[in-house]
Amino acid sequence: MNYNGLLLVISGPAGAGKGTVVKELIKDEKIRLSVSATTRAPRGQEKNGVEYYFLTRKKFEEMISQDGFYEYAQYLGNYYGSPKKPVEDWRKEGKDVILEIEVQGCRKVKDIQPDCISIFIKPPSLEVLEKRLRGRGTETEENILKRLARAKEELPLAADYDYVVVNDDLDLCVEQVRKIIGDNRK
Ligand code: ADP
Ligand code: 5GP
Repeated sequence: MNYNGLLLVISGPAGAGKGTVVKELIKDEKIRLSVSATTRAPRGQEKNGVEYYFLTRKKFEEMISQDGFYEYAQYLGNYYGSPKKPVEDWRKEGKDVILEIEVQGCRKVKDIQPDCISIFIKPPSLEVLEKRLRGRGTETEENILKRLARAKEELPLAADYDYVVVNDDLDLCVEQVRKIIGDNRK
């Protein structure tokens, strides 16, 4: 299958600012964000079909057996996956598609689609990461600690990505990611 649009994989530890950066990127009409499915519960103001499709484990496993995911993985005891159809439809239309997914998912996407562009969003330090995660106010203490432990495992994997961008100043980070996208468009 020949696609015109880019497939962009954006990863990084929880609290690094991926969601904030992606929100800026999708102001570009040519860019679409893949809405993932998950078995975790909605947090804060999250709405079904906007931040995620919130599914039961049974429904998620049904979708796995129907080959409905481009990739999926487990993160802290829950399933997360990228529904296949929107990604393929948008890419056929020539849109650049962002998958905002964790590191195992990125590996799977690289296997299926080696020409995808992988970008790791890194926090300036673990201290700043913790501050952001706490400042967001969406997580229980238990979840914060689990996410920070997971962040320590994920940070060394930045080396496997095509690009690593530090999210210190938000505008600068967004500008750097936009440049990466621009440079990779044909
Ligand atoms: P992620 O999607 O990676 O889990 P978020 O985008 O939710 O992270 O960001 C985590 C918190 O950090 C949010 O409260 C967000 O407003 C804040 N944040 C994001 N980027 C920056 C930045 N460059 N400087 C300061 N705060 C930031
Ligand atoms: P959160 O629970 O904080 O929203 O997300 C937890 C982690 O799951 C984040 O690293 C996020 O990028 C990742 N994630 C979200 N959607 C998907 C997906 O469809 N597939 C994979 N592999 N990871 C995902």
